[in-house]
Amino acid sequence: MNADAPPPATASTPALEPVHDFTRKLRQEGLLERVIEYVAWQKARRTARAEGTQEPSLPAWSPLSINLDLTTACNYACDHCIDWDILNSGISHEDEVLRQSLAEMRDRGLKSVILIGGGEPTVYPRFADMVRYIKSLELQVAVVTNGSRNERILEVADCLDSRDWVRLSLDSGTDATFQAMHNPKKAITLEAICAGIPPIRELNPAPRIGFSYVIVWDGAERAEGAPPVVENIDEIAMAARLARDHGFHYISFKPMLTRAPDGAEVMDPEAAHAALESVLRRIRAQLDQAHTVATSDFAVIESTNLKLLEQGTWREWTSQPRTCHMQALRQVLSPLGLWNCPAHRGVTKARIAPKDAFADGERAERTAEAVEGMLDGFDASVECREVTCLYHATNWWLEQAIEDPRGLDDLTAVDGNDAFL
Ligand code: SF4
Repeated sequence: MNADAPPPATASTPALEPVHDFTRKLRQEGLLERVIEYVAWQKARRTARAEGTQEPSLPAWSPLSINLDLTTACNYACDHCIDWDILNSGISHEDEVLRQSLAEMRDRGLKSVILIGGGEPTVYPRFADMVRYIKSLELQVAVVTNGSRNERILEVADCLDSRDWVRLSLDSGTDATFQAMHNPKKAITLEAICAGIPPIRELNPAPRIGFSYVIVWDGAERAEGAPPVVENIDEIAMAARLARDHGFHYISFKPMLTRAPDGAEVMDPEAAHAALESVLRRIRAQLDQAHTVATSDFAVIESTNLKLLEQGTWREWTSQPRTCHMQALRQVLSPLGLWNCPAHRGVTKARIAPKDAFADGERAERTAEAVEGMLDGFDASVECREVTCLYHATNWWLEQAIEDPRGLDDLTAVDGNDAFL
């Protein structure tokens, strides 16, 4: 298939989980204007290139949403951790520069910040101050944490609102499996972590709190040659009950990812020691049981890539256009630099700029040049050909809008207030 031709219609594509429906999210008021501007810029650029005239430069926009890795330090050593090789680098953000960068990005269009991986966010010494600072900029904030420091979540709970969320990566239904998978460096139990949720909800019921469960099967590995992982398929239903009984709003299940030799995060279900069909049957039986514990206040969610895996269509989502447009709209800022995508976090060819990429206007201008270079130089149809990319449909939607003479000018905004990409 031509890299820039639309992918074949995927009638088998399951309904997207709203959290992964990035096309709809980009059509929300507050985000759509920037998307229309981006499509118009790409159209003007391609036209100028075809006519041999001066191409317009990319304006010094911020992405609409960032994954912000506050630290690379982690107080666990999870056997399935996809970021294993960049953990505990000893390299940190300078707090003041990071604050300046967030303010500069907000002024340039940033709407949301996900405090997430490459380390445990709550280990950042000024975690609570940083969350409050992000909220003072009127940005949406989310925290993905390993649950080891729920007291820090409690400390900031009052400043969160209904658009914000916290998700705990727990991946187990018993403490024995929790310990074996996560190897916490200080003593803590799964029960103690779960017991930390009701006080947070009592203090502020507005933010959604989730229990995240990466499904791990025997034979999976975080990277080629990594030590064996602990399987957790048989605890799926148990974990759903545990989450519901401790006041989580939802549990979400997703399949384990692997770091490919080139550094990309990919699905590799064929690494299972047992036949894939029998692994999937066991997962389905557990998920069906898990769904029986759902209530009006507790949801059981299967991620989009888990549905694709079960349907056997996950390879269809590895076909990307040459240009990944999402890298202009969503980036990863870590102590190690600015990256074009979470799936390539820490990979040299995906690094856009240093960690101070948005520290002031001058640097933001330089970063825009680097993003423009990445849009041209990073061939997603090659670099992401093994990635089951959750932005696949959105990237093709944007590509088609750029090639369509009408662009997106007639598009109207849809309801919604979820700016996390
Ligand atoms: S195509 Fe997908 S995996 Fe590749 S850089 Fe873009 S968003 Fe990331």
